[in-house]
Amino acid sequence: MENNPKMRQWLNNFELDHPLVIAGPCSAETEEQVLKIAHELKDTDVTAFRAGIWKPRTRPGNFEGVGAIGLKWLQRVKEETGMLTCTEVANRAHVQLALEHDIDILWIGARSTVSPFIVQEIADALEGTDKIVLVKNPVNPDLSLWLGGIERLYTANIKNLGVIHRGFSAYEKTKYRNNPEWQIVVELQNRFPDLPLICDPSHIAGRRDILQDICQTALDLNFDGLMVETHWDPDNAWSDAAQQITPTRLVQMMEDLKIRKETDDDAEYKNKLNTMRTQIDVIDAGLLESLSKRMKIANEIGELKKGHNVAVLQSKRWNEILGKMILDGDEKGLSEEFILRIFKAIHQESINHQEQIINS
Ligand code: PEP
Ligand code: MN
Repeated sequence: MENNPKMRQWLNNFELDHPLVIAGPCSAETEEQVLKIAHELKDTDVTAFRAGIWKPRTRPGNFEGVGAIGLKWLQRVKEETGMLTCTEVANRAHVQLALEHDIDILWIGARSTVSPFIVQEIADALEGTDKIVLVKNPVNPDLSLWLGGIERLYTANIKNLGVIHRGFSAYEKTKYRNNPEWQIVVELQNRFPDLPLICDPSHIAGRRDILQDICQTALDLNFDGLMVETHWDPDNAWSDAAQQITPTRLVQMMEDLKIRKETDDDAEYKNKLNTMRTQIDVIDAGLLESLSKRMKIANEIGELKKGHNVAVLQSKRWNEILGKMILDGDEKGLSEEFILRIFKAIHQESINHQEQIINS
């Protein structure tokens, strides 16, 4: 698949002067709930109304969605509010029902993107339609799997495509429900700059209080839109209660977000930016030089350990170094998460080198 400027056409057609906003509840619960939320979102910047009809739940026994009846409620939303409708599909039967009920935007959920069989089934069922299809990232941080899903749709001649970033699951608990791993999305963006990119801060956060920060980061990274779970009574939602916000809160959040321009032609701005970018380039070259010097010494240590038949991994020393780095890093304004990540990577590279030396 190649980058194709036509991929943005569906988004350009909306002629928005703000990011695309898709909002609505995690799950359609009752006809009244769906319509109440939809009417509260009418006359805001929301272009499309989302609601999950078939809910993929991690554990059985939770609310699994109202099923096809919910599609009728979405049709009423479109008739009564003029918003487009948007739901998740996970198999051929879902696609057929969604097409019959004239749903405008379909998304493929994170648990489906991991399965090439499911994505292919959905792509085959959609072939030849002009639906807008948004592919959520797979639950695991694997860019190829995500790209593979997009390619399957593209190859089935579905050209109105976009992606949704909803974060990646990890075994270690962090403040996020799903880690953003922004670097993965930035790589996707570099490879396919014309593929519309939407952030789903709700599933990244898993909680209300950090939604706005996540949205701001997404907009700072030039995302094209946001998909935000919105409920008239979030605390009593039948799924994902902790992360949903009211329509009023959504409107406030949109007002508070700073929407930045992609660039500016002002000469002074460009000059300053160029100078600082050059400074960064110089520092990066120095970092690389230091890493290479460090690795040379690690290699010599490897030789020494080999000569004395000593094991590569010296956990005690390593834990001491790490503890000190975290403290020093904190003083210099660098987060513990960043220090751990970077030094674990450096340490692993040294171990790999020493392993090779010892076993040679
Ligand atoms: C959802 O959008 O409600 C959903 C189930 O999302 P995900 O596939 O990202 O978990
Ligand atoms: Mn949800």
